[in-house]
Amino acid sequence: MKKLYAVIGLGRFGGSICKELSKEGKEVLAIDMDEDKVNEYKEIATHAVIADSTDELALKELGFRNIDHVIVAIGDNIHASILTTLILGEFGVRKITVKAQNNYHEKILEKIGADEVVHPERDMGRRIAHSIISSNVLDYLELSDEYSVVEIKAGEKLSDKTLIELDIRKKFGCNVVAIKRGKDINVSPMPNEQIIMNDILIIIGSDKDISRFQKALV
Ligand code: ADP
Repeated sequence: MKKLYAVIGLGRFGGSICKELSKEGKEVLAIDMDEDKVNEYKEIATHAVIADSTDELALKELGFRNIDHVIVAIGDNIHASILTTLILGEFGVRKITVKAQNNYHEKILEKIGADEVVHPERDMGRRIAHSIISSNVLDYLELSDEYSVVEIKAGEKLSDKTLIELDIRKKFGCNVVAIKRGKDINVSPMPNEQIIMNDILIIIGSDKDISRFQKALV
């Protein structure tokens, strides 16, 4: 059976999720209490409905009990976001992803049973900050408070050297998990793999180790 998604709150974040899921051919129910927003998504989502997600009965009538994954993308109204998450939890929705506004909001959401809490502005800010610090850091993905994955463009210090010569694992404690060269991606680079200028290295490690590696070789 086709997986059913619902997006509550069609601001920039929820709207973008809704568009992307629909583009991928997914069945999406789009909800907002603002009529103009709902009209905007009438042609995009499978169904777009005006509703207040803090109204338990309204959600029940919309069949929320049968939705597999709900994304709560309510912006500033933390009260509404928490109440909506609680209602969805009581319905037994299989997966609830909620956008948090701040760290306190995030903690509450985790306590009341959100399966996934996202913090798009904070995370995007961090990613952009890393690429501002070094133009060779193309992307930065936090895995946990301590570990990350970074995409680094090879400059002079890395070019024309093999992984064994660089000895990144031993010297810095991080791992090169893949090397992108143009359109090709090598997901299990061998120790004798030679890095060429502008190759993109995907590196996993603790933030401390990645930072040491960057200072020395990026
Ligand atoms: P963003 O920062 O992602 O642009 P916004 O705060 O602009 O987020 O948008 C949040 C959306 O959530 C708004 O369109 C708003 O109408 C909607 N919204 C807020 N509370 C509720 C609610 N209780 N039920 C349904 N939609 C809501």
